[in-house]
Amino acid sequence: MTRPWGTADETARRAELGAALEELEGRLGRACAAAGRARDEVRLLAVTKTFPAADAALLAQLGLDRFAENRDQEAARKVARFVELAPDVAARWHMVGQLQRNKVRSVARWAGEVQSVDSRRLVVALNKAVRAARDAGERTEPMDVLLQVSLDDDPSRGGCLAGDLPLLAADVADSGQLRLRGLMAVAPLEGEPARAFDRLAGIARGLRSEHPDAVELSAGMSGDLEDAVAAGSTCVRVGTALLGGRRLASPQ
Ligand SMILES: *Cc1c(COP(=O)(O)O)cnc(C)c1O
Repeated sequence: MTRPWGTADETARRAELGAALEELEGRLGRACAAAGRARDEVRLLAVTKTFPAADAALLAQLGLDRFAENRDQEAARKVARFVELAPDVAARWHMVGQLQRNKVRSVARWAGEVQSVDSRRLVVALNKAVRAARDAGERTEPMDVLLQVSLDDDPSRGGCLAGDLPLLAADVADSGQLRLRGLMAVAPLEGEPARAFDRLAGIARGLRSEHPDAVELSAGMSGDLEDAVAAGSTCVRVGTALLGGRRLASPQ
């Protein structure tokens, strides 16, 4: 189902998204103030997975230009549609989901940043894909990369073990087409997010001592962004608190 464009539905949805954004900005402002940080130290990524391109276009009208997706196939279609709906917006799209190596060539066409890099084989494949995309004129820039680290030491949910980071970081730094920008993590299903994010902050300090440009820390989602901002997150990834509850099936 695609939402009609330029209709009363669109007006209602814009109002809904505007109200959610205002509330979210309030939370982010309070979280930054509580942590003694400036609001502009924390970027807001709108996680639009399962929502239509029209919603991303409405969020762009409300001033957002950073979006995230977790599945290549859905994202590739959505980004193409978004460009039609909002041709004047220089949006940046981020891949935040587990990435299979057979999808890297497509991701290299639409993503400005991949936050879910967690294996050496993926680094090799992504590097090659970005080079091919640049050779083909499908992208101009190298790919910004965050390494995803697992905070529950259960790599089935994505993310590498903290102990594997030094080698992975060196691979990215030496890759040629990938720029190492920092770390991403998701709070464990069990336990206090604050403790997990403090551990993450320590891991990030370790990475920065070897790679001073790897300053980004992508942490915090709808339910735990305050804890993440307190721990030094530079990028919160917000879906539900902005767009509402997700249905199970993904529209286009
Ligand atoms: C879906 C998703 C989010 C957003 O989660 P919400 O709880 O809806 O804010 C953030 N990060 C990743 C990796 C996701 O897959």
